[in-house]
Amino acid sequence: MIEVAWNPFYGAPVYPAERYAALAHRIGAILKTDNDVLLVQAEAVVALEAVATSLARPGFSALNVVTSAYGGWFGQWLRRGGTHVVDIVAQPGLPIEARAIAVALDANPDVKILALVHAESASGILNPLPEIVALAKARGIVTIVDAVASVGGHALDVDALGIDIAVIGPQKALGGPAGVSALSVSQHAWELVLHDSAPRDSILSLTDLKAWLDAGRGALPGTPAPLEFFALEAALDRVEAEGLGQIVTRHERAASASRAGLAALGASLWVPAEQASNLVTTVSLPSGIESTSVIGFAAGLGVELTSGVGTGSSHLMRINHTGARATFQTVLANIVAYGAALRQAGFPANIGAASEAIAKTYNT
Ligand SMILES: *Cc1c(COP(=O)(O)O)cnc(C)c1O
Repeated sequence: MIEVAWNPFYGAPVYPAERYAALAHRIGAILKTDNDVLLVQAEAVVALEAVATSLARPGFSALNVVTSAYGGWFGQWLRRGGTHVVDIVAQPGLPIEARAIAVALDANPDVKILALVHAESASGILNPLPEIVALAKARGIVTIVDAVASVGGHALDVDALGIDIAVIGPQKALGGPAGVSALSVSQHAWELVLHDSAPRDSILSLTDLKAWLDAGRGALPGTPAPLEFFALEAALDRVEAEGLGQIVTRHERAASASRAGLAALGASLWVPAEQASNLVTTVSLPSGIESTSVIGFAAGLGVELTSGVGTGSSHLMRINHTGARATFQTVLANIVAYGAALRQAGFPANIGAASEAIAKTYNT
């Protein structure tokens, strides 16, 4: 006979209906927006697909910035709904330049929406969000920002920038659960979403999600997974206790210490600081060493390093300092492990200088 141990998770109570509105309000404060905030009962990719699906329609033009697979998917979802999509594809692993967006907007005057990722956890780059949103705003174009990776790692001021739709997940810099996500929707964006042939009776329908707002933001439809919402609430408690500004500062410091350490090591940083995310720092491996051997060596020290994601990034290593990893201890361990892996393979690496540079960054 199989004995099943008792586990309190099996008996989680339902998440109290009156607390969903408070969650949405607290997420609005993180995004610095008075726009409507919708909760999505799925990981952030589903929220992104819902946005694209709800905006897409034939005879509609979109400018879609592609700096990783996420942007590629967003364009596909728009096309599936009949949208005419102009993809603006950055060099592999690099941010898009605002100049390229200005040129594309001038060449495509009928564009109604513009979509981009703020910071990429895949390549560790930061797109010039304020400049790009300003270009779109000046033309009355609705902006959609995938801020899943950037929220908590970078300043994200939705109303001050005028972002129409911002999609976030709690699972990156905010250190929360992965099974729930959220988005903010401006009045201008609602005007595009709410049309006669908009998708309805679908998990991907923003129009359906709006019914929750219109009904007074009580219980979410269906049977919400209570553990996800209790975990989201706990994450928001932690975020508010530390302070969002402090969380962003912690990520900025982890990024600059990682960069200082890698520079002192003699490693070559993939992008200059102003193009780098605060979530992941990317280095180019010297030729003659494989990322798998660096990853394996670091794993032996209990340090998790990963290789670049996406086309043309096999020579890149990602050094992750997101969320709970944005600390002196993790940054130091990451860089020492990377340096030790290089030395083990016969490459020079000044681990002492790197450690000192990291300590110095944390001391100022
Ligand atoms: C992590 C991430 C997402 C969400 O992906 P999940 O599969 O929900 O983790 C979306 N966009 C970006 C830019 C991300 O970094």
